Amino acid sequence: MSSPNDLLRELPSVDRLLAQARTIPSLQQVSHEYVTRQCRLILDELRTAIQTGRAPTSHERDEAAILARLAQRIAADRHSKLRRVVNATGTILHTNLGRALLPHSAVRALSEAAEHTVNLEYDLNRGHRGRREDLIEELLRDLTGAEAATVVNNNAAAVLLCLNTLAEGKEVVVSRGELIEIGGAFRLPEIMAKSGAILKEVGTTNRTHPDDYEKAIGERTALLLKVHTSNYSIVGFSSTVGLPQLAAIGARHRVPVMEDLGSGALVDLSRYGLPKEPVVAEQISLGADLVTFSADKVLGGPQAGLVVGRQDWVSQIVNNPLHRALRCGKLTIAALDATLRLYQQSGRLAEEIPTLTAFTRPLRDLEAIAALALPALQNAVGDGFRLSVEDSTAQIGSGALPAEELPTKVIAIEHAQVNAQQIADRFRHANPPIVGRIHEDRFLLDLRTIFDPQDVVPTWGDRS
Ligand SMILES: *Cc1c(COP(=O)(O)O)cnc(C)c1O
Repeated sequence: MSSPNDLLRELPSVDRLLAQARTIPSLQQVSHEYVTRQCRLILDELRTAIQTGRAPTSHERDEAAILARLAQRIAADRHSKLRRVVNATGTILHTNLGRALLPHSAVRALSEAAEHTVNLEYDLNRGHRGRREDLIEELLRDLTGAEAATVVNNNAAAVLLCLNTLAEGKEVVVSRGELIEIGGAFRLPEIMAKSGAILKEVGTTNRTHPDDYEKAIGERTALLLKVHTSNYSIVGFSSTVGLPQLAAIGARHRVPVMEDLGSGALVDLSRYGLPKEPVVAEQISLGADLVTFSADKVLGGPQAGLVVGRQDWVSQIVNNPLHRALRCGKLTIAALDATLRLYQQSGRLAEEIPTLTAFTRPLRDLEAIAALALPALQNAVGDGFRLSVEDSTAQIGSGALPAEELPTKVIAIEHAQVNAQQIADRFRHANPPIVGRIHEDRFLLDLRTIFDPQDVVPTWGDRS
């Protein structure tokens, strides 16, 4: 047996490996520096293995094997780690999968803005600097009835910015029942602390009365905040103070009232037979001085946080240096503009906004997808797997309408010897990966978010 020192001496040098790598056709167009780094990395790994007594086999030390490993790694790096996945989870707005899919017109606008220079902050009428907000402010005013509007990176940023602008060093009154935590580390008390505002909790977890707010208002009160309890509902012996009442209290004490709506629908979802989610324009007309909401939840646009409300407050928000730090780029503005224009003008919203389409598709469409997918799916998974089409319930997701579920159709996949976890694992390793859900120890592909039957038919093997 060779000693570790012998093994180390036998390894090729970086220069030798590089010279050999140059002869591999697939590496000829690849950056020299990057190939050098990869050669060093692989040699380092082999050295460490030898030094720690996990000596690689002679086959692994073989120069041809090392070169093959190099080429394989470089090929794997050619693909982005961010990849298309098929969302068959039944959660329409899945935060971990990137939430809303954009309407076609928004995709076109985004791509156009990416490829070309645009008048992002340039007033074409006057030939000088403009403001990026101006592009979408008019749309948001029209759609919500608010006096003014602005846009930042996401709703968490919008809340942070509003609190910092209106209430830094001062008190913000919030009901204990509304101190929410949203998935992905949005916790209202923590955002509040970072904004510099002082949280003044009132009421109890299940009941808060108008009197509780009244008593909490003092000289240091800067804001009354209402938070949409997006991802849970308190049922039973509970009471909350509605926005009209809270607005009246605010007006009486000359304290502004802000509502963090979370999802914030621009249209009444109940007209599509869905449960009602608060509509931004209604909250404005009920007396909210400021409303914040996400653009990539039920609205169905790109990730952004929208602030609409009274001109004086919005002006202060726009002039806050934090606004500059939280602003969004031209791609977001382009996609948002196109999405909002659909809300303004389209008579076919449910067809044109994919999020609304997914909410409202009739079950017979899902059954048709299932029927088309089944033969190819059976073929792809092989004999021994049992497929059945069943009724189930899907969710809107992203905290919207938590207690509400949408009827859906799923394809359940079972096998006597392969458990649901293992099936889910295989589908996640398909190309593209297919993400389903496990319910009561069964693997399900939910069809509410599937528009092409081929999408749920796995292709096995690596990306090429
Ligand atoms: C989702 C949500 C947020 C966070 O919004 P993001 O756009 O994800 O930053 C804040 N508040 C409420 C009530 C929410 O539902």
